[in-house]
Amino acid sequence: MFISLINRRILRIFLVSIALHSVIAAQQPAPKSDLDYQTGGVLYTQKAAEYRALAYQAYNLARLRLDADLEKKNLKKLPKTERRRPRAIVVDIDETVLDNSPANAKGIITGRPFNTTDWYAWSEMRKARPVPGAVDFLNYAVSKGVKIFYVSNRDEVQKAATIDNLQKAGFRDVSTSNVMLREKDSSKDPRRAAVGAQYRIVMLIGDNLDDFSGLFEKRSTAERYAETEKAHDDWGRKFIVLPNAMYGTWENAIYEYKRLTEAQKAEKRAAALELP
Ligand SMILES: [Mg+2]
Repeated sequence: MFISLINRRILRIFLVSIALHSVIAAQQPAPKSDLDYQTGGVLYTQKAAEYRALAYQAYNLARLRLDADLEKKNLKKLPKTERRRPRAIVVDIDETVLDNSPANAKGIITGRPFNTTDWYAWSEMRKARPVPGAVDFLNYAVSKGVKIFYVSNRDEVQKAATIDNLQKAGFRDVSTSNVMLREKDSSKDPRRAAVGAQYRIVMLIGDNLDDFSGLFEKRSTAERYAETEKAHDDWGRKFIVLPNAMYGTWENAIYEYKRLTEAQKAEKRAAALELP
């Protein structure tokens, strides 16, 4: 009798301490993640003149390709009906025409990995600066009668802020009709097809292989390499690539498209390194 009373008391203390623990844990902020591995990529975007040079190089090349198309130099191989169709350029937004590196920098300092709360808050600020060369090139294309389609996987709730940010950054001809954000599916194939049904897509511009073709989606690193080889003639011609060392599907491929903890991601990154 006496023992069972003590046991009950111990059990109660034990249960109360578990309950207290979980209350305290719920009140504590999530532990900071060590995102220092991202510092190199963010600094490359923000401090390397080489990053700016690469961005200018991409848009200078885009201009050469567009001018060749406007001069009808490359059109001989196309059927006549195709040649007469109005021209369009499909361009991604993030890290292609807008630079979100400050948001990534803040994530490193606060130890908060990518999450929609912080991402929406950043886009709502409308403070992303244009990627070097993007405004001049796209406005030049608009002046030549080329329709621009901004095909991005930002969410529909970000649409008004995104349009404002693009306009504020200096891009002309930005509206609800040519900013095509993520629908049910993150694949950009259906949106590219919708543009292609009405226009001749002269080129696609992006920082992620998924911006160019569905062939690259959800592929392993080895498969991404193989598809890149197969498309070797398109790079710098139909496909114009911007550098993004901060994030991208290249990183998801290293994680095999799995939802992993930060610690598991660190393990995958270390295992992916090629050593001598
Ligand atoms: Mg992008």
